[in-house]
Amino acid sequence: MKKITITIDVEQDCPPFLNTMHGIEKGLPRLMELFMNTEIKTTFFTTGEVATLYPRLIEEIVENEHELGCHGYAHERFDRLNKQQARNAIFKAKKLLENFDSTVTSFRAPNLKFPHEYIEILQENDFKIDSSIAKYKPPFPLKTRIVGDIVRIPASVTSSFLRLPLSVILPILEHMHDPVLFVHPWEYVDMSQTAIRPDCKFNTGEKALENLAGLITYFKEKGYTFLTISEMAEYNR
Ligand SMILES: [Zn+2]
Repeated sequence: MKKITITIDVEQDCPPFLNTMHGIEKGLPRLMELFMNTEIKTTFFTTGEVATLYPRLIEEIVENEHELGCHGYAHERFDRLNKQQARNAIFKAKKLLENFDSTVTSFRAPNLKFPHEYIEILQENDFKIDSSIAKYKPPFPLKTRIVGDIVRIPASVTSSFLRLPLSVILPILEHMHDPVLFVHPWEYVDMSQTAIRPDCKFNTGEKALENLAGLITYFKEKGYTFLTISEMAEYNR
């Protein structure tokens, strides 16, 4: 079976450059509508902070049967926290998210930076999946690994890659085994006039949404099954 997973990192706009929430207010509803229209399920890695500020939107994610995952509390960089600070942030975020969904078992660290020795914190908090690693970042994990009872699933490509022309990205993704993609709600709002890195703002807004819709249509036509990250992990246990 050909499989693909789309995940969404639900956070403030383009951290650490901005602290606005246009993505949550405008981009997230656009994504929800796209996933509803295409009838696919995804995983929303959400910060505790967004869940506190926008509870109704998080309820909608769960009502639409998407998976709710954890993306830290305030999008903190875990490689800059000591173990106790990391433990506090993860515990607080997980508790908050479990007000919306009693089974939050998937985690992704902001910036895909999570010290290996902090995996035990995920185990303490009953997480089963960690997607804080990427195939394109050191140590370049090409495959899913199991550490204790945690399945570590690497992201396949960086999010800005998905805003390149479909003629460029689709053949590359098609050659990947079980691609795991991630996007952010703020990419679906026009960020071209904001003071952020060029790679963060090109083709944001309508163009990004068209691209993602085109990608979904393409892989559906090719017979791929769209899985949440938990479902994808089941194939790797
Ligand atoms: Zn993030």
